[in-house]
Amino acid sequence: MAFVVCEPCRDCKYTDCVVVCPCECFYQDERMLYIDPEHCIDCEACVPECPVDAIFRDTEVPAAWTQYVQLNAERSAELIKNGVGHVTQKQEPLIRGEQCQ
Ligand code: SF4
Ligand code: SF4
Repeated sequence: MAFVVCEPCRDCKYTDCVVVCPCECFYQDERMLYIDPEHCIDCEACVPECPVDAIFRDTEVPAAWTQYVQLNAERSAELIKNGVGHVTQKQEPLIRGEQCQ
């Protein structure tokens, strides 16, 4: 079990979610953030912090976004392996606008 970042996070990356995570399991690439399922403890703290409702429990991901379960696992593992993309502090959103508010 783990939580998963889905489509609404793309091009936004507001990172409100990151600061409340007790396990520092968020990683990012140029597109969006991902949760490392190996270290997520299912505390759910990040869910209400996301202004665009991008985070879901892996068993409750909306049907249209189920591919994000695998994408979070693959991308976080790749970023960890490459030693890049670990994000533990809030940063400016990629895009300013309604999508991120
Ligand atoms: S708060 Fe939501 S939109 Fe922002 S980085 Fe986290 S998951 Fe993505
Ligand atoms: S559910 Fe908890 S441990 Fe998992 S990513 Fe969210 S804040 Fe971090």
